[in-house]
Amino acid sequence: MDAAEVAANKEAEASIDLLAIVLDTNPTQHIVRQNPQNLTQILEAVIAFGNAHLMQKAQNKLAVISCSHHATDFLYPLPGRQVELRPIDGQYEAFSLVEKTVKQQLGSILMNAPRLSSPCESLLAGSMSMALCYISRLQRNVAAGVKMHSRILVLTGSNECASQYMTYMNVFFTAQKLSIVIDACALDKTLSLLQQGCDITSGQFLKVTQLDGLLQYLLWVFMPSPQMRHKLVLPPPPKVDYRASCFCHRELIDIGYVCSVCLSVFCKYSPICTTCHTIFKTPGPLPIKPKKKKKTEKQM
Ligand SMILES: [Zn+2]
Ligand SMILES: [Zn+2]
Repeated sequence: MDAAEVAANKEAEASIDLLAIVLDTNPTQHIVRQNPQNLTQILEAVIAFGNAHLMQKAQNKLAVISCSHHATDFLYPLPGRQVELRPIDGQYEAFSLVEKTVKQQLGSILMNAPRLSSPCESLLAGSMSMALCYISRLQRNVAAGVKMHSRILVLTGSNECASQYMTYMNVFFTAQKLSIVIDACALDKTLSLLQQGCDITSGQFLKVTQLDGLLQYLLWVFMPSPQMRHKLVLPPPPKVDYRASCFCHRELIDIGYVCSVCLSVFCKYSPICTTCHTIFKTPGPLPIKPKKKKKTEKQM
């Protein structure tokens, strides 16, 4: 090891790695409707993964946020109160604290959730904003000279929801500005908006094909810190679909109209921008240039 590597290792040891996991717990997402047991399996994998992150370094921090169709809640850590903990032989207390807190919280959230008859989309973008707020609060309280590397991991089996397009974009660009990496693990379908977010913040996107191997996938792809990832062989980045959603119908479009003032995207021409109320000139037919008379004609 040369001097630079030793210095880098020392820096890495002193820094804090914060991992915020946004877990989609919407009971109407496809994989949960298919088999309710799947949610338990996902939860077990997430707890094991969170604990593996804490195990790597004593300074590491973890937050788990649940995201559903009606609310966003913290599963871990809980402000103020702590769950009652009886020591279990052979298990590190911090790990059982994570497990107990997450399970108890999620249990009470699911019990109190309003019943739904039809599938309803998850508030993923909102939950990611909450994670950003939490990260920025911790960032402010970090002691001088200590570096904090933060990242957000989103686990979801929900479908694409273009209705939250604006919030997504705000989250992605805020994260990019704060150098927070966004990773996403899609459990059901490929999500092009989240893919864009991973690409913008140089995070990793993975679509899991087999739920049985979820923990292995998480440990392999998302456990290494973003600074280490370039040294590893990870799945190649997918071709990102950079379509925008129109502001009028919230649908992904290939070609559309863009407001020249506020850059809002529309799928149909409208004379007034609904976002910034700019009035546009109606594109009329192109003016026909009068033909120049030939000199020869004039002379005649
Ligand atoms: Zn539209
Ligand atoms: Zn506009």
